[in-house]
Amino acid sequence: MATLTAADLSHDRDFARALDAQDDLAAFRTRFALPLKRPDDIYFVGNSLGPMPLAARDLVTDELDDWARLGVAGHLGARRPWYSYHEQLRGPLARLVGALEHEVVAMNSLTANLHFLLTTFYRPDADGHGRRTKLLIEKGAFPSDTYAVMTHVAARGLDANAEVVEIAPRAGEWTLREEDIERTIADLGDTLALALLPGVQYRTGQALDLARLTRAAHAVGARCGWDLAHAAGNLALSLHDSNADFAAWCSYKYLNSGPGAVAGAFIHERHVRDTTLPRHAGWWGNDPKTRFRMEDRFVPTQHADAWSLSNPPILAAAPLIASLAEFDAAGIARLRAKSTLMTALLEFRLRGIEGQKTELQKPEGLEIITPHASHARGAQLSLLIAKDSQARYEAFKAAGLACDHRESGRGIAGEGIIRLAPAPLFNTFDEVWRAAEIVRNAMRA
Ligand SMILES: *Cc1c(COP(=O)(O)O)cnc(C)c1O
Repeated sequence: MATLTAADLSHDRDFARALDAQDDLAAFRTRFALPLKRPDDIYFVGNSLGPMPLAARDLVTDELDDWARLGVAGHLGARRPWYSYHEQLRGPLARLVGALEHEVVAMNSLTANLHFLLTTFYRPDADGHGRRTKLLIEKGAFPSDTYAVMTHVAARGLDANAEVVEIAPRAGEWTLREEDIERTIADLGDTLALALLPGVQYRTGQALDLARLTRAAHAVGARCGWDLAHAAGNLALSLHDSNADFAAWCSYKYLNSGPGAVAGAFIHERHVRDTTLPRHAGWWGNDPKTRFRMEDRFVPTQHADAWSLSNPPILAAAPLIASLAEFDAAGIARLRAKSTLMTALLEFRLRGIEGQKTELQKPEGLEIITPHASHARGAQLSLLIAKDSQARYEAFKAAGLACDHRESGRGIAGEGIIRLAPAPLFNTFDEVWRAAEIVRNAMRA
């Protein structure tokens, strides 16, 4: 697809249709079951639960059949042997997030992975001076992350209210400034043990610069981990090169692997090699060559697998194989290029023609709080609706636009945030055009 700039965008529906006609990723849409009540409905909520790749059904059924047919012999005798099942995910996962194969593992759920990775990478007082104890997160993080961090720090016998530092956007702003995060990290200096940051903030859709902020944390001797729940399958990540110490993500949002799908984790190569790191271990993290000798001593495999505990949940991993095959075939770079253009078109259509009193002027009571620059956001646009946001949301849905609605967090009655996430694997430019029409009409009503 040709590279377009904002100046090339048009409000014409034919423009959107022409983009679809030129889109060499268009056929991927037919490879998903889209949960649409009416053919014209628009699913812009893949950031919350991605739709089912059609191939997932056969992959799950194969495992049920092999279980029925083989029982325990399926560990080695299934068509895709269960013993090594998770190994099939390494290649596509590594390509997706820009990592080496031995840096990634599919395991557990996201919040569980955060706890396990905190055990290894939150090392309060690793220097032995009793000073390096602080854990930096963002204020207004996804609640599960906040709960995990607070209870984790408390479980280490520390005062979580004192040790967990929250950074917030400036007064009157919605998104974090990277220079503010850098300054906070520098101010914390040698008291900072770990920064845990979002790759893409779930509420605002803001994308942070992983390499830049990881560098800032490392500069003060701290570690840096990333929650990529809204970044995996959305951004073109270069996790290895970012130098991040670790990252974790779930697979049911942009990765379309179904409710409760097996999640993912990244551990940088330099740590994978270090078998002395503290961790909560289980038999699946042991060297596979000696795993079934059932010896007492844990010998971590020199792979991110060394953080996995249990034999993998085959039925929860099968849809991920189906989905990652689609990502692999499309390529995350091409998907990101399409995504960037889709979101730019959606924003352009919603901002209207600024300063002109045409029917295309910006709808009143609607503000886009997601950053404008494409490098500072992923697919999602977050619309701040000033009044009657619940009713507006109901109107969007009634008109066929699936999206979601959240409190704005400011405690202003009637104010809310509606998130729209066009996904390049299965959404079209014409849907972007029509979604903007729905929003405009509902805001006028
Ligand atoms: C979706 C999401 C979660 C959910 O965690 P699970 O453990 O998969 O239920 C956690 N954190 C963030 C930032 C999310 O976006």
